[in-house]
Amino acid sequence: EQKTMEKIVALCKNRGFVYAGSEIYGGLANSWDYGPLGVEFKNNVKRAWMRKFVQESKYNVGLDSAILMNPETWVASGHVGGFSDPLMDCRDCKTRHRADKLVEDFTGESADGWDNEQLQHFIAEHGIACPNCGGKNFTDIRKFNLMFKTFQGITEDSKNEIYLRPETAQGIFVNFANIQRTTRRKVPFGVAQVGKSFRNEITPGNFIFRIREFEQMELEFFCKPGTDLEWFSYWKDYCKNWLLNLGLKEENLRLRDHKPEELSFYSKATTDFEFLFPFGWGELWGIADRTDYDLKQHQEHSGKSLEYFDPETNEKYIPYVIEPSLGADRVVLAFLCDAYDEEQLDEKDTRVVLRLHPALAPIKACVLPLSKKLNDAAEQVRELLAKNFMTDYDDAGSIGKRYRRQDEIGTPFCITYDFESETDHCVTVRDRDTMAQERVAIDKLVEYISERLVF
Ligand code: ATP
Repeated sequence: EQKTMEKIVALCKNRGFVYAGSEIYGGLANSWDYGPLGVEFKNNVKRAWMRKFVQESKYNVGLDSAILMNPETWVASGHVGGFSDPLMDCRDCKTRHRADKLVEDFTGESADGWDNEQLQHFIAEHGIACPNCGGKNFTDIRKFNLMFKTFQGITEDSKNEIYLRPETAQGIFVNFANIQRTTRRKVPFGVAQVGKSFRNEITPGNFIFRIREFEQMELEFFCKPGTDLEWFSYWKDYCKNWLLNLGLKEENLRLRDHKPEELSFYSKATTDFEFLFPFGWGELWGIADRTDYDLKQHQEHSGKSLEYFDPETNEKYIPYVIEPSLGADRVVLAFLCDAYDEEQLDEKDTRVVLRLHPALAPIKACVLPLSKKLNDAAEQVRELLAKNFMTDYDDAGSIGKRYRRQDEIGTPFCITYDFESETDHCVTVRDRDTMAQERVAIDKLVEYISERLVF
């Protein structure tokens, strides 16, 4: 079996999971559109996440905050200012410099709006030296602001500048007090959100692995300082179980703990979940103990208290935060790669099967009339199922060919209506993975399928 990105991308394109964005105009670099099957699949992934993290969790509630936020948010979060400057290190004396500052000091003029390349080029060309040691041996510029900028209102004036959010998390932090008050939740509790984020990535690629417009599924879990490491481990297990319960193979997953020197300065512990994509291991899910850094920053910048009053101990404190952050597109790709299988049936015959968990499969069942003469009755079965699940209908070609078309898109159940169905009111259900067939009463079909969607 050869699992390659080329095959997976081709299947996605040919069957309507994912198309290249703006294709008729020659595309837009690294943008992708989810087609009819892709939208179902991705919605199922997002629903499965909300289900486990909100509906089935006694701790968490949901939120859908705006993509556009008050620009001060991004100052507080560190996305503009400190973190986003174009930084370069002097290799000789190991001091760090802002590249735009070096240029400004040299020219005496503003380097506002220069991009990294311009800065780097200018510094090299003019032989600008390290102010500390005089060396001219700099690293490449490492950090720049990944945020997409736009204008609110009609004047393209710097005071109307706003950003598309680069993560959903900040929408949760700024609503912490609202949510705590209105739900009357006691710490510990969490807030879960699914939504678009935008990053002007320097090196997008690997299909939908790294894109500039993507969706995140983030949980911010607020807990009492001192209990944070326990909760960190709780959510790590919870996240891992979510993936495994949805059928992801354990051998394609590894958890990598950040070493102390690798941690962000505000983080006490971070674990990356990595998945073995056809192009190698890649980060899937980042889980971090962010301490009270975010709420503290927002308290300071907004001037509003974000302290929590603990009614049991009469203490006031700013909660610590555990953040599991998952990319919806990235986990969609992981589930696709994990499920893709080429099964050798005999010497000449292989079938492509997407072995997706039925809960994630875009189409749950496809109704196949054995003969076109049975179309009317089979159509009634389709209608019955379509009230409950995404259902397909196919009366074109041999039954074998129709099965294969459904295997390739991961449909777990093919339902054949034959001449006997008229009298015994049963249909033949064929299982995608085992290809085993079973006779099931039409009035038991919904129950039969529902039971198999549980995860
Ligand atoms: P990476 O190192 O891959 O750039 P990151 O560490 O910057 O990721 P986070 O800021 O921790 O990522 O974002 C949390 C999650 O959001 C990631 O684990 C990933 O699943 C997803 N994600 C981040 N950036 C992208 C992107 N450009 N395209 C798709 N998914 C993304």
